[in-house]
Amino acid sequence: MEINTYNTPANINFTVPVRVNRESNPEGTIVNVNGVKVGGTEVVVIAGPCAIESSEQLYETARAAKKGGARIMRGGAFKPRSSPYSFQGLGEEGLKMMRKISNETGLPIVTEVMDTREMEMVAGYADMLQIGSRNMHNYPLLKEAGLIRKPVLLKRGMMATIEEFLLAAEYILNQGNTQVILCERGIRTFETSTRNTLDLSAVPVLKKLTHLPVIVDPSHGTGIRWIVPPMAKAAIASGADGLIMEIHHKPEEALCDGQQSLYPEDFIGLMTELKKIALAVGRELSLP
Ligand code: PEP
Ligand code: MN
Repeated sequence: MEINTYNTPANINFTVPVRVNRESNPEGTIVNVNGVKVGGTEVVVIAGPCAIESSEQLYETARAAKKGGARIMRGGAFKPRSSPYSFQGLGEEGLKMMRKISNETGLPIVTEVMDTREMEMVAGYADMLQIGSRNMHNYPLLKEAGLIRKPVLLKRGMMATIEEFLLAAEYILNQGNTQVILCERGIRTFETSTRNTLDLSAVPVLKKLTHLPVIVDPSHGTGIRWIVPPMAKAAIASGADGLIMEIHHKPEEALCDGQQSLYPEDFIGLMTELKKIALAVGRELSLP
């Protein structure tokens, strides 16, 4: 069932599983997130807060997202926090708030699901389900996401090789769900000057090996606000089909990841810059 098509520089035989293999769909898969197509010529930007905190916060960030030209909104209701004492998210109450904003703005929403027992409930509110870095190796969760008829945003495990990342995606496709977007979000290395090391070389490698769309998360990839814009530009230049970025109207008061969240005006300015990069590499990025 597995096709080997890639020799690593170390000449290690690299396994690209059959369903995610580009050979099974050479044209590339387009993932349709409630009308927004990811994987075509258009670069799609997803923006929103790390965590859903309040209606006011969602309105403010949605306004910035829309004004800047984001096509999809993000926001977590179930947060995978390193500390059990950190804010864990508003849960279903947050999802209700997010759905309301989505209906009002017309922006589809992506939100994380962490537990198989909550899959159906979260899928009832979300337009796309996110499986986060910490759960990339959660095989029951991957299988369950494969049974749901909603697109899945699968983030690379922070310690996962590209081979393991592709095998995790294969779990989802194996259950019949082909609507999967891969997200490079940085890996753990010995480097301590950034939160993670954003592996942008993963973008061309993934684009070569798989037909699935590939997006980049420069927010978690760097963890530092001022490094997000240059890496967002570099991600588009490297061939990414989109970006997911954290924005907040008051980052200094954010309950989660304020240090890496862009201010609304920074995000809106960045989008104009990103459009130039997109055009330079033969892509499109439509601004309002
Ligand atoms: C997130 O996007 O909210 C998140 C927790 O990211 P990651 O899983 O990449 O750490
Ligand atoms: Mn975050």
